[in-house]
Amino acid sequence: MAQHQSYDVVIVGGAIMGSSAAWFLTQEPDFDGRVLVVERDPTYENCSTSHTNSCIRQQFSTEINVRISQFGADYVQNLRSHMGGDPDVPNLKIQNFGYLYLADDPAFAKALRASHKVQVAAGAGTRLLNRDQLAAAFPFYQLDDILLASHNTVDEGYFDGSTMFDHWRKGAKAKGVEFIADEVVKMDLSQGGTRVTRVHLKSGATVCCGQVVNATGPRAARTARMAGISVPIEPRKRFTWVFEAARPLDRPLPLTIDPSGVHVRQEGTQYYMAGGHADHDPAVEPDDFAMDHAIWEDKIWPALANRIPQFEAIKVRHEWVGHYAWNVFDQNAILGPHPEVSNFLFLNGFSGHGLQQSPAMGRGTAEMLVHGAYRTLDLSPFHYGRIVRGAPFVEKAVI
Ligand SMILES: Cc1cc2nc3c(=O)[nH]c(=O)nc-3n(C[C@H](O)[C@H](O)[C@H](O)COP(=O)(O)OP(=O)(O)OC[C@H]3O[C@@H](n4cnc5c(N)ncnc54)[C@H](O)[C@@H]3O)c2cc1C
Repeated sequence: MAQHQSYDVVIVGGAIMGSSAAWFLTQEPDFDGRVLVVERDPTYENCSTSHTNSCIRQQFSTEINVRISQFGADYVQNLRSHMGGDPDVPNLKIQNFGYLYLADDPAFAKALRASHKVQVAAGAGTRLLNRDQLAAAFPFYQLDDILLASHNTVDEGYFDGSTMFDHWRKGAKAKGVEFIADEVVKMDLSQGGTRVTRVHLKSGATVCCGQVVNATGPRAARTARMAGISVPIEPRKRFTWVFEAARPLDRPLPLTIDPSGVHVRQEGTQYYMAGGHADHDPAVEPDDFAMDHAIWEDKIWPALANRIPQFEAIKVRHEWVGHYAWNVFDQNAILGPHPEVSNFLFLNGFSGHGLQQSPAMGRGTAEMLVHGAYRTLDLSPFHYGRIVRGAPFVEKAVI
């Protein structure tokens, strides 16, 4: 139960994004307001954060997303100093196997070249590889159809996002942020509908709010509807398989993005991890976690065995279903205050890259809540206004 009847900031959803925003609010010297995080499932069993593959990359098509991941990479690797030097907080390693995009048609090869320019200009270590260079570096790929690849081993790979999440939650609580187990079910608006004045909780309690942050992942559209707002975000199913190979590869496997849409990477020393989705990819209910075994048999395994013939003999050890919060408008994040309901802030639409974006997005949200403006990275290209204007801000590199 909330300790107070009124809070300066109510954050709806306490997983990685809600916890990041809460933590960064505690780091704002000009802010001493009350913060409440309302989380419907404090076990976090069903949220996207618990189903993540927990990787970070610099290979995006837009400069701002490269910059966001650069900050993310610095943040995780220097977590302790970013979190105030607490000796209990570890620095996290990035397991730099890199992402490797494969292009099998001229249009995608052109897109990789264009993204490469953006990334290199921003200081990323991306390299383009032709078929011969690729064959020399990774002899296990079947490359008959491949025209070009893009690879980067600097700040690209797996990191332990759940440790960062735990420390943000713990740190925010220690600095006075209240986390409660409850569900926001309704919002009251001011006369004229320009502000959310109060949130109603499933327990029956109500809480007045100065500002509200929507950090509800795949449920973002439901939450926005409570404030009379529509946001183009849908829960989409994404499948993950961890498998063992009868004949393991002789070197670490980069996170390979096959032209089929299937991706696969090294998982520890012994296993591999593959991911993908069905060709028919509708919006689903946010509590639908049913596994579709046919996808593995009909799509994923054939694609893996085609690209890496050594993967003809593999055994699935573990599998799960998670949800992307999928922005159907332009596949990019939606951030900042709503233009009319001005104290309702979005922190939504992160598809498959929210974990790595959580340091920059939480920091930016805290800046916007406290100062009404960004102080570090300018995240205004992600604002909702682009949806109103019908002007997509497309991120092409969405996996
Ligand atoms: C299979 C898969 C692989 C991924 N791989 C990567 C990766 O390699 N790298 C990467 O950077 N990202 C990856 N992601 C994306 C990343 O995991 C997500 O973008 C991120 O976890 C989103 O965090 P979130 O806090 O916005 O949402 P969530 O983690 O879904 O949290 C939302 C929270 O809000 C709560 N909530 C919802 N409605 C209410 C309400 N009304 N009241 C109270 N609480 C509510 C929920 O219970 C939940 O805890 C992956 C995602 C998936 C599914």
